[in-house]
Amino acid sequence: MDLSNLRGEILKELNLSSINSGIYASGWVKKPSGKIVQSISPIDGKKIATILTGSKKDYELVIQKSEKAFQQWVTFTPPQRGELIRLIGNELRDHKKNLGKIVSLETGKTTVEGEGEIQEMIDIADFAVGLSRQLHGLQMASERFEHRMYEQYLPLGVIGVISSFNFPSSVWSWNSFIAAVVGDAVIWKPSSKATLTAIAVMKIITKVVKENNYPEIFTLLTGSGSEIGNLMSADPRVKLVSFTGSVKSGRVVSETVARRFGKTILELGGNNGSIVSSKANLSLSLKGVAFGAMATAGQRCTTTRRIIVDEKIYKEFVTKLKDIYSKVKVGNPRENGVLVGPLIDGEAVKNFTSSIQKAKREGGKVLAGGKPASVKGLEGGFYVQPTVIEMPRVTPITCEETFAPILYVFKYKTLDEAIRIHNSVPQGLSSSIYTTDLTEEEKFLSALGSDCGLANVNTATAGAEIGGAFGGEKDTGGGRESGSDAWKSYARRQTVTINWGKDIPLAQGVKFDV
Ligand code: NAD
Repeated sequence: MDLSNLRGEILKELNLSSINSGIYASGWVKKPSGKIVQSISPIDGKKIATILTGSKKDYELVIQKSEKAFQQWVTFTPPQRGELIRLIGNELRDHKKNLGKIVSLETGKTTVEGEGEIQEMIDIADFAVGLSRQLHGLQMASERFEHRMYEQYLPLGVIGVISSFNFPSSVWSWNSFIAAVVGDAVIWKPSSKATLTAIAVMKIITKVVKENNYPEIFTLLTGSGSEIGNLMSADPRVKLVSFTGSVKSGRVVSETVARRFGKTILELGGNNGSIVSSKANLSLSLKGVAFGAMATAGQRCTTTRRIIVDEKIYKEFVTKLKDIYSKVKVGNPRENGVLVGPLIDGEAVKNFTSSIQKAKREGGKVLAGGKPASVKGLEGGFYVQPTVIEMPRVTPITCEETFAPILYVFKYKTLDEAIRIHNSVPQGLSSSIYTTDLTEEEKFLSALGSDCGLANVNTATAGAEIGGAFGGEKDTGGGRESGSDAWKSYARRQTVTINWGKDIPLAQGVKFDV
């Protein structure tokens, strides 16, 4: 199938044909000085666009423009800032379909998942608008007479968002819309594998900013992680680096930012497990596992990568799961009925293959899939067969996150054993248990249960909503983004004490009479 019509149509509809610059700082920089990057569609392996990225010189310009915009932005009240985000949310609604197409074309997501990505941006915009009238601190009782104590949250300044390819626009919005209402200016360094999506989003966002005369608080800085990402991490002018990506890159960012005592939000890899009890609703758990393991071709941070199944139902569960896998359609993600699209690139296919080989060497038995796949008419694309591997025990490869649809299956006798297997990996993002037994469910949710940032009951590890705080423990990095009180990470907390009396009593009864 030829995607060139779709390519042309999208570039035209979003007015992207004339743009090849990956740098926006109060306007598109005409000739950025960095490397040329090609945006490739994993659906057919063909080029969508050529983009000029930034280097150190562009970085300086972006920082200076951002610092200037921040100085203006802090003169707006939070509800006034919320008004900008409301307008942006409306604009995103108007462009949802087209932006969804770009996401799908550039990352290989299915049509509904591409649009779902933009819907998530709209949802977080709505959330941020409400939040802009609620940025509350606590008031504490003072021990001193005629004193008042409270805490307030002030903007940090310029912050950096480094995003991964697999959520090429929503990750930016989770951070940026919340940070914006708090009062920060945001520099975005997107993944080099999803540069066009970032440019399309910025075109839409910055049009709203310009037309309504707001300060240019959103800037875009495409470029490599090792150069641009590293400049951002090392720069004390960037008060917070919110990083979404692999554990490996996150560790470098974390160490670099910590050296200068900067702040980080780390949203790193997951190796998410589901326990399937003999007390589970079988058809519900099969659907949950299938969605968790195969959606987005296994390229979600929350993808179900391991299931731990009660030996009492093991045979039946695995037989039914194999049946589902044999029927799932892999192919062009823009076609109706296709549930599994391509991986992001050839490197990802290589990782898929080598992980399967390792799993076999470590005693694994392939129950479904196991090989790269070829899709007729899309031979240049990066397709693989969704794979299920039965493992005899926890082994080194099952402790790694392979960003592909590989599901490892373990057997358990007792719930304690299942939880032990579940918690035995270095990552701690998402988890779930399928059971109708209250005792099992509560144990899973207790301090002796799941060690992850997200715990689900009778639903998949993947598919979080924006209202909750999102993030994970252990090697996943400990960051929290999106809903609940995650907004506090984008602010500096200040404890205020006001003496409104005529004397100056001291805390702890200290006397200092002068
Ligand atoms: P990646 O680590 O290869 O790249 C992520 C981003 O980091 C890119 O923008 C890249 O250019 C940049 N980068 C790379 N090295 C850097 C460095 N030294 N300094 C600064 N920036 C650098 O990850 P990816 O392949 O794009 O994304 C997949 C990974 O992201 C998976 O591990 C997945 O689990 C994780 N992820 C986590 C979450 C979460 O919320 N926990 C969400 C989405 C993806």
